Amino acid sequence: MNDRLDFEYISIDSNYSSQYDCKSYGCDREGICRCKRIHNVSISEVDINKSISYIWKFFHPDLEAYKKRQMRISDVLYGGDPDYYCIDRIFRHYKLYDSEMYHGVIDRGGYYGDQFAGIFIKDEELEQNFQDDLQSIFSTNSLASKLRFVIYLEYGMILECLKQANFEIVTISKEDLNTPNINQSHADNILAMGKLDYYSDDNYQLPRGIVKRHGDKFDIIDGYHRILNAKKEFNVFCIK
Ligand SMILES: [Zn+2]
Repeated sequence: MNDRLDFEYISIDSNYSSQYDCKSYGCDREGICRCKRIHNVSISEVDINKSISYIWKFFHPDLEAYKKRQMRISDVLYGGDPDYYCIDRIFRHYKLYDSEMYHGVIDRGGYYGDQFAGIFIKDEELEQNFQDDLQSIFSTNSLASKLRFVIYLEYGMILECLKQANFEIVTISKEDLNTPNINQSHADNILAMGKLDYYSDDNYQLPRGIVKRHGDKFDIIDGYHRILNAKKEFNVFCIK
């Protein structure tokens, strides 16, 4: 395993109680407390946007310059790089928006008793796969390769129309879509689920999916949910 991602102070908060028993441990005699015990650890919801920014910086080629504690998330120009879109897709694939996927780690061996070591992905093997997938994205400069990678990860297959395709970013609105492509009852179900706040205009500024020109409008190839949740204009990857 490479360096592990630690989300504490970045996108997930922790809460825990500390217990002391200085008398039995002899801290009083020594004058230094070494008996701190941490328990009742809980962690907050995941701030997805902050997680994506953190991951981008973590894997940036200038990684050495970006040690976690010194970085300021606000420095990152959110959404200015297609890698953000790919990180977001991979992050969702592994369901890392769910705080159940993480746990607070306690280091029990400290000189001063327990130390809270950070908030990590519970399943190490899953994190390894997650990091490997991210490395695949960062190791190519080809937008088409990046997009095909995340599509394959999600669907396990690449549509014929995407196999040789190149892509450009275009800005459209829902009126630019071919409506026969949208099944209205499915669309209503998605919007009624109410769980897609993450894809509201305020929360989500990344490209919303992949489209193909069809007549003077566009068909949705991928990103149905994300596109339906847009109110204003949004960016998509369009097959050239
Ligand atoms: Zn003590």
